[in-house]
Amino acid sequence: MSPGSAILPGGLKQSQPVIEAFQTERLRDMLALCARAHPYYREHWRRAGIDVQSLQSLDDLQRLPLTPKQAMMEQPEHFRLQAPDLPLHERVLCEVIYTTGTSAEPTPVYNTTHDYHAYLFQSSRVAEISGIRSDDIIANLFPLTVAPMGAFVRSATNAYAAGAAIFAALPGSGHGAFGVHRPLDYAVQAIADRRATLLWGVPSFIRRVLLRAIELKADFRSVRMCAITGEASSAALREDLRRCMRELGAQGTTVFDRYGSTEMGAFAQCHEEGPWHNPSPEIQFHEVVDPDTGRRLPDGERGALAVTHLNRRGTVLLRFLVGDIVAIERGACPHCGRFGDRIVGPVVRTRDLVKVKGMLINPAALLDALQSVREIDEFQVVIGRSDPSDPFSMDEMRIRIASGVPDQTALAQTVVSRAQDVTRVRPVVEFAAAKEIYDPALQTKARRFIDAR
Ligand SMILES: [Zn+2]
Repeated sequence: MSPGSAILPGGLKQSQPVIEAFQTERLRDMLALCARAHPYYREHWRRAGIDVQSLQSLDDLQRLPLTPKQAMMEQPEHFRLQAPDLPLHERVLCEVIYTTGTSAEPTPVYNTTHDYHAYLFQSSRVAEISGIRSDDIIANLFPLTVAPMGAFVRSATNAYAAGAAIFAALPGSGHGAFGVHRPLDYAVQAIADRRATLLWGVPSFIRRVLLRAIELKADFRSVRMCAITGEASSAALREDLRRCMRELGAQGTTVFDRYGSTEMGAFAQCHEEGPWHNPSPEIQFHEVVDPDTGRRLPDGERGALAVTHLNRRGTVLLRFLVGDIVAIERGACPHCGRFGDRIVGPVVRTRDLVKVKGMLINPAALLDALQSVREIDEFQVVIGRSDPSDPFSMDEMRIRIASGVPDQTALAQTVVSRAQDVTRVRPVVEFAAAKEIYDPALQTKARRFIDAR
């Protein structure tokens, strides 16, 4: 590829037709590269008799079958381009990050130097849209996990892209023999000492850090933003983060909710609670589809999100089903005027829908409902059997809560009715100590929903 052609001059200031014309060019290049060097797609197109050269437009893309996540998880190596004739920076392996799906084994996503540069480019757009600046001091609060977590590895890349400074608190449940993990109080102290402006991590851990800072009367006045990602959060939880920042006298109370995945990278909100801009339409195209037929749905309609890479060299995915139900909108953003596509929530993770007592329930909606109960300090939903020794006994939904309120009966009733409203399943409520549910010394993410069947 000739230098300079990877970026659309004017970027998101360009009108929709200009952006889409650019995407069409990149799509043709990407398909041509896959036709000669992508093991999985070559095999599938050959078997299905698809002549990929006949695909000339973004609309034509609909003639390709969807790529289920399962296919990539089963054969991640088959999704890597094998093109030894490409220039060195387009084929040398630069980093491997892992998707933390529901399966036991994490799935590797391969990035060449070319892809790393693309991520730096995407991150600089994210920073610009969401207001991350070169004078920011970022606290990376992501855990040090067994398989490298994309968000952990990429927080540094995001800082480089914004020109900002970054340090890491290295929380996480201890593994390995080098004793490098650090306790919660280290994070609190480091944020105060370094005068961090931006806290970057999973929302449950950031909340614990803020609560501990309030307890310790730590000086968090430098903080102006929490950037959260990596687990679902509700409007109520995000509001609670703002409340904590206000209580700490922080200079700002912005909560930037990042939507994204290892395969896609991050999307950016131009304002709190808004939809998510695709920061770099140059490198990826999105559609909302009917997951059964592959048919593209009109903008504004809710369906399954499919991503198509337009300019990658390591793991390449076309019409890849991310596993989320969303809507999409295109054209000028009414808030900031930028063009391109935007993902409109609520984001519902399809893989997370579970059946309890014959009802299909959405755990995210249940967690939302519980997070909005002010009196609850910590909670956890456990789906199990009513008789644990009998695998054929009825399902049971247990909600464990920690709370300091004197009237536990009233709180239990509130919890039962909230849970029933959203799931139509009546839960059993039990009280526990906060640390029994989520101990930040041992876990870096609260496990809010456990299917123990
Ligand atoms: Zn906007």
